[in-house]
Amino acid sequence: FQGYIGSTIDIHDRKLAEERIRQSELELQEMIRREKQFVQNAAHEFRNPLAAMQGNLDILVRHPNLPRSERLDVIEEVQWETLRLSRMVNDMLMLARGDMGLEFLIEDLDLTKVLQEVWDDARASNPHHAFRWNLPEKVNLRGDAERLAQLFSELLENAVKYSPPGAAITLDLQQDAEGVTLILQDQGAGISEVDLPHVFERFYRVDKARQRSGRAEGTGLGLPIARWIVEQHGGNIELYSVLDRGTTVQVWLPRDVE
Ligand code: ADP
Repeated sequence: FQGYIGSTIDIHDRKLAEERIRQSELELQEMIRREKQFVQNAAHEFRNPLAAMQGNLDILVRHPNLPRSERLDVIEEVQWETLRLSRMVNDMLMLARGDMGLEFLIEDLDLTKVLQEVWDDARASNPHHAFRWNLPEKVNLRGDAERLAQLFSELLENAVKYSPPGAAITLDLQQDAEGVTLILQDQGAGISEVDLPHVFERFYRVDKARQRSGRAEGTGLGLPIARWIVEQHGGNIELYSVLDRGTTVQVWLPRDVE
């Protein structure tokens, strides 16, 4: 039996097999390293809102006679931090499900209809931005409607969040036989060359202080979620930005998911 194996698996094959095993071990190690880093970052991100909540609750306990308006400020702060925490938990769960291979529900859809709902909501809640929409009446595509709406919502939320009231937010769409390209443009804060390569990393946020003062603090998970959704559809996402001038996000989606 030994002799039989020895004669059929030659040294070259064995080396190849060993190399493959080594490669998958390395990949596995890298996955574990990334997972550990994610947990570490998450714990770190939880600490700030929790500390802020605790601090504010301490104030309420220690100063029971705080004037009503000041008390309301403190309570609002706690409410804000709670909201932030729950957003973060939701985003993390979403990405964790993605890591575990969450199934997408692929069906025939009208992309215009999917995007229109998100767009109308954003317009209604941000009346001071100038929204410009250049989409065909109907765009046929196969995809997961709920996830595509979520993708667009993440991108649109950023466009609003990082641009001042009055600034224009424009959505264009180009299409050919193979797929569609969505182009979302804002005239906001932009992203520097130094930060741009990192914005798709989990928890990466540019200049936290600036965002905090503007009450626009996010989770740093929006773009990673967006990229995950695009990739699950077999598409790609690119971000172009000039600091203090604005940002353009370009998403290509194939007509049909492989
Ligand atoms: P966040 O929840 O902080 O918005 P994202 O993952 O969506 O996290 O984005 C990561 C970072 O990229 C943001 O913190 C922000 O600094 C930057 N960014 C994303 N979109 C824009 C945009 N349209 N304009 C300016 N900066 C942006």
